[in-house]
Amino acid sequence: MNARALISLIIPCYNEQAVIELCHRRVAAAVDPIRDYDFEIIYINDGSRDETLRLLEGIAQSDKRTRIVNLSRNFGKEAALTAGLDNAKGDAAIILDADLQDPPELIPKLIHAWKDRDADVVYGQRTSRLGETWFKKFSASAFYRLINRISGRVDIPYNTGDFRLMNRRALDALKDLREQHRFMKGLFAWIGYKQIAFPYVREPRAGGRTKWDYLSLWNLSLEGITGFSMTPLRLASIFGFIISAFAFIFGCYILLHTLVAGSDVPGYPSLMVMVTFLSGIQLLTIGILGEYIGRIFNETKKRPLYFIDKIIEHNT
Ligand code: UDP
Ligand code: MG
Repeated sequence: MNARALISLIIPCYNEQAVIELCHRRVAAAVDPIRDYDFEIIYINDGSRDETLRLLEGIAQSDKRTRIVNLSRNFGKEAALTAGLDNAKGDAAIILDADLQDPPELIPKLIHAWKDRDADVVYGQRTSRLGETWFKKFSASAFYRLINRISGRVDIPYNTGDFRLMNRRALDALKDLREQHRFMKGLFAWIGYKQIAFPYVREPRAGGRTKWDYLSLWNLSLEGITGFSMTPLRLASIFGFIISAFAFIFGCYILLHTLVAGSDVPGYPSLMVMVTFLSGIQLLTIGILGEYIGRIFNETKKRPLYFIDKIIEHNT
């Protein structure tokens, strides 16, 4: 009888031919000495256009703990992660990046923290961000301050990524959240349960290139804010209130001024200022409405989050 708990390692890969084999070697080396648990290693190939799938097939043949979930196209990291979590059979799952930014050597420590402190989730928290520009660090910290102010009860921890361990009940909770717009850090926090931080040093990529540029980071922030806060929608009424109050006072002033000093038909500049200012605010609030309506549109379609092309397992 095998009573050992099973832990699923979940590794999304998109165009990772430069690092994938090194990744597997390091993951295998990290889990090989662990005797108290069994492991399954799930690679999700997120529609890579390079040799990643072929290399993964080789890995699956050489290591019978591995399973490859090949998606039908590139769905993005969030969907790839979800595919991995859906396919995990373990009593707990650990999420890792293929580029080795989350060092696999920490796996035993994560498991230890999980068991030791009886947590449902152990999330990696970066103590430093090696290889990142000051602008990225600054904008990231500003973003977390903002989103935590406006997202109400959900506390999205600062400096965390997807690197984490989740037990079965946290996994099942997360699996119930099927929204299209998946701001994973927010979803992870939203489920609640006992979550503890695990400080670690995030390393630079082991090879290959990041798939994030500033535009996609901007989009990610929008996902986070619109997915977890209605505050921007309220901004329109706040702006409207402030501006009407201002307009009312201004109107009284003009009335008094005309009564006392007569009209001298000035006011073209002030008129222009008001018109352009107000149209700016109107466009901004329509844009905010659009962000939410677009998301409602996407959610109402209720499309599946991904399609699986095939699952490859070690054949004996
Ligand atoms: N990834 C993915 N699908 C994508 C983009 C990225 O599965 O569309 C994977 C990628 O292979 C890597 C992880 O997500 O394992 C993190 O990606 P990346 O290193 O580019 O992001 P960063 O670490 O720079 O945030
Ligand atoms: Mg990376």
